[in-house]
Amino acid sequence: MAQLVFHCPYTNQPIPSGIEAGADCLRKALDYPISLRCPHCGLLHHGTIADGYLTDEGEPLAPPRANN
Ligand SMILES: [Zn+2]
Repeated sequence: MAQLVFHCPYTNQPIPSGIEAGADCLRKALDYPISLRCPHCGLLHHGTIADGYLTDEGEPLAPPRANN
């Protein structure tokens, strides 16, 4: 099963969340808040499931936001 991974906004390095779930499951919880202690910059990063992506999927969980 794929792992949910986030990106550090300062170092652009991947942060493993330790959460393993399927895309279908995560897409139902896109607004779920998550906080991660970043191993790269040492800060606590806050976001939602929608900010992450799955290790075995090449595309983000959330669809691109429309500009209009
Ligand atoms: Zn960081």
